[in-house]
Amino acid sequence: MLFPLEQDYLNWTSKYNLRVKTGSCLCCGKEIVTDVPFALKGYRGLKSEDHGCGEEFTWKSFKPIGQKEKDTWDSLTISM
Ligand SMILES: [Zn+2]
Repeated sequence: MLFPLEQDYLNWTSKYNLRVKTGSCLCCGKEIVTDVPFALKGYRGLKSEDHGCGEEFTWKSFKPIGQKEKDTWDSLTISM
C-alpha cells in the first residue's frame, strides 16, 4: 500500500470523489474516521488510522480510477 505524503485529505477526497466515513470500531467502540489518503495501483481511497485494534479493524473505502480497474470492479463482489 502506498501513502501519498503531501496530500491534504480534503483535497484528496474531492479530487477522487470519496466520502469520509465515521463510525465506531466493532472491537473497542472507539470512534473511527477515514481521513488518511491511500493509493493502490489503479485505486484511490481513504482509510482510518490503526488505533490499536489492528489492521483488520481499520476502515477502508476506495474507488477505481482506471478503465481497466473499473471493468474489474464491475465484475467483483467485494465484502468489507
Ligand atoms: Zn478498536
